Amino acid sequence: METLRATAEGAIPVQTKEVKAFGSEAADALLQQLNITRRNLTAQDVEIEILFCGVCHSDLHTVKNEWHSTVYPCVPGHEIVGRVINIGDEVTKFKVGDLAAVGCMVDSCRHCDYCKEGLEQYCEEGNTGTYNSPDKHLGTRTYGGYSERIVVDEDFVLRVPENLDLAATAPLLCAGITTYSPLRHWNVGPGQKVGVVGIGGLGHMAVKLAKAMGAEVIVFTTSPSKVEDAKRLGADDVVLSKEQGQMSRYAGKLHFILDAVSAKHDINAYLSQLRVDGSLVLVGAPEQPLPVAAFSLIPYRRSFAGSMIGGIAETQEMLDFCGKHNIVADIEMINIQQINEAYERLLKGDVKYRFVIDMASLKK
Ligand code: NAP
Ligand code: ZN
Ligand code: ZN
Repeated sequence: METLRATAEGAIPVQTKEVKAFGSEAADALLQQLNITRRNLTAQDVEIEILFCGVCHSDLHTVKNEWHSTVYPCVPGHEIVGRVINIGDEVTKFKVGDLAAVGCMVDSCRHCDYCKEGLEQYCEEGNTGTYNSPDKHLGTRTYGGYSERIVVDEDFVLRVPENLDLAATAPLLCAGITTYSPLRHWNVGPGQKVGVVGIGGLGHMAVKLAKAMGAEVIVFTTSPSKVEDAKRLGADDVVLSKEQGQMSRYAGKLHFILDAVSAKHDINAYLSQLRVDGSLVLVGAPEQPLPVAAFSLIPYRRSFAGSMIGGIAETQEMLDFCGKHNIVADIEMINIQQINEAYERLLKGDVKYRFVIDMASLKK
């Protein structure tokens, strides 16, 4: 197949093929089966048959245009694991038959200071997201992992540890790296009390990772049904944030807090849990702003920061760390035809703790 790509010099033909996918045509539409085009392989490309794809709350925010930047059709999915089925002539890191993974990015400028430092997520020219980003090859948008196959430059393809369950490894590609990166950047480790707020896909990974890094982990949840689970995941203690009196137990005591809540909540209640020089890092990305009171920060010289996914080298480091410590996500497997129902459940916090799509169901 040939697709025309619009450029300043006129339309350029690009060789493409059609691939089955699941996506949405509008903010208020359900996801349904549709066809997308994938480019034919360039010399640096790897083609992956997608076996499993995790369902991130960012997929839902994007499909519903909650961040006001979605271009339709939108095919989400950035927690991708599968098998290499084709490689370009100059590919050196992968061969046909290898397991491979793709996370939240498929490209970046590669020459700015941040790209050179391995911080491609903060690329000065903007990284190319795995979905809903301008596609440099086709001139359309990038389409994500709710699809049969994906074509990605080998520099943005990750190796999967062979000892881990493949389906449960998929969520590491976003939920894993998004929590690993700030835990590492803020040097979380032994001797520290670390809070994790919101036990969904990201939060449950944060508990496992912070525990493996040697920290004492305190979970803050709104869900009584997650108390026992949080302990099983590795939490040393659990605070039911909506229960009278519970929030005072760690006031002024925590070194670091990772906030992974997807909806509007009172950030000041969590800032007040930090000790002097403590940091609260926001990874959750609610649609609404979160007002911060000056006196939540000033008295204890507290810091309030954010963090976005992680670079490619750090994503590989995280996968290897998980391989070494036998860490994967707790998952509920679904067929792609159940995705709209899964989104409904995600909105209610009703998932333990990551939906993963068995992509074989797309062939049905
Ligand atoms: P998720 O699985 O839906 O988990 C979100 C959790 O937040 C819920 O399980 C619930 O935990 C808590 N929560 C939800 N609504 C709440 C409310 N109204 N009040 C208080 N707590 C509430 O979502 P996820 O996939 O982990 O993603 C979490 C957030 O991170 C999303 O906004 C997502 O877009 C964002 N994200 C950011 C990055 C990044 O680079 N920074 C990367 C990926 C995702 P409890 O039941 O324990 O209270
Ligand atoms: Zn994500
Ligand atoms: Zn760059």
